[in-house]
Amino acid sequence: MSEMLLIKYSEIGVKGKNRYVFEDMLVKNIKSALRVLDNPFSVRKTQGRIYVTYEEPDFDDAVAALTKVFGIAWICPVTQMDPVTFEELKKRVLAYMEKTYFAGGTDKKYTFKVNCRRIDKSYPMESMNMNMLLGELLLNEYPESLSVDVHDPDIMLSIEIRHHDINIYSVEIEGLNGMPVGTAGKAMLLLSGGIDSPVAGYLVSKRGVNLDAVYFHAPPYTSERAKQKVVDLAKIIARYSGPIRLHVVNFTDIQMKIYETCPHEELTIIMRRYMMKIAEELALKNNCLGLVTGESIGQVASQTMYSMLVTNEVCTLPVYRPLCAFDKMDIVAISEKIDAYETSILPYEDCCTIFVAKHPATKPKLEKIQKSEKLLEGTIEELYRQAVDTVEIIEI
Ligand code: ATP
Ligand code: MG
Repeated sequence: MSEMLLIKYSEIGVKGKNRYVFEDMLVKNIKSALRVLDNPFSVRKTQGRIYVTYEEPDFDDAVAALTKVFGIAWICPVTQMDPVTFEELKKRVLAYMEKTYFAGGTDKKYTFKVNCRRIDKSYPMESMNMNMLLGELLLNEYPESLSVDVHDPDIMLSIEIRHHDINIYSVEIEGLNGMPVGTAGKAMLLLSGGIDSPVAGYLVSKRGVNLDAVYFHAPPYTSERAKQKVVDLAKIIARYSGPIRLHVVNFTDIQMKIYETCPHEELTIIMRRYMMKIAEELALKNNCLGLVTGESIGQVASQTMYSMLVTNEVCTLPVYRPLCAFDKMDIVAISEKIDAYETSILPYEDCCTIFVAKHPATKPKLEKIQKSEKLLEGTIEELYRQAVDTVEIIEI
């Protein structure tokens, strides 16, 4: 008998002929999540299942690491054995229950249900029958502590009779679900120091997407601390998404030029158009298939559908806005869950807040914006090139 972790995955299961691509990527990601821990392990993939075995069966750190890997539905500590007779299985089940629930005495009370699955149909007893006999066995062994509840048991005792082994388990730790990172291509995340964009990056990465990121800063109007905050947020996202190449663009001159030249109520929208243009150029250079932003419909003036129509006009790549239909409080809940919130709310200045107008346009007209942008022609091109050519790259 040995103790190991059974990794169950859900959505990968429907991927047909490509399924192995997803499974192999998941195995690879599991390995890199566990490699940082100081506990030798091995990962084995068999028939729709992944098992992680340890030299030291101390699973806590491993479980913590695995709950950050996209593509995992459930993590189950299992006791696995070679196929045994039903008489022997009874003994093993009693030993499992003793060790898992009654090691400190039998004063605790639980409801339970036995859930046998006979995957190897040649095993000489039917699942229903095994459920009944094992249920009876446990009730006799722990008459004071156990009672049956088939609808909502405290302990769902799963027993899987497979062709080459038998698994016993009763604890299922929920994973993040989603798809293994590395199975969907790469996107460029516009990462600011706020609450929304880290959540947007996390959610897109959850669908298997690798991330690069771009941050526009405006020194000396935005500080080194504001930039460090973005680096810290990228590190938090990278716990889930894997390595991120963060591009830091010096946006000061472009911003100043727009500020000096264009109507103030149009500043934000014109600035955002330039951000998107630069982000797209960097995305294409880095083989990204799309852009990601933290915009949510109606959250601020620059995020009305009218504004986004005008902003979007400069891009040819798809722009993914995973938060477009989210309420702020739902975004905050995810931000807290991924441990980004505390960092996001640090009060450092943002390049957008410094140059915002008091009354930004909420229904900008494309023709009017384009007309204003004409005023920038002649100088903006060089500033644009300079911003792109002097980009600082930080590998996260
Ligand atoms: P966030 O909470 O992500 O900062 P926000 O609510 O402050 O978003 P805006 O400032 O309008 O909204 O920005 C909308 C989106 O544009 C952000 O979610 C982000 O994707 C991108 N963005 C804004 N400012 C920057 C910046 N300085 N660098 C990179 N991307 C930015
Ligand atoms: Mg912001």
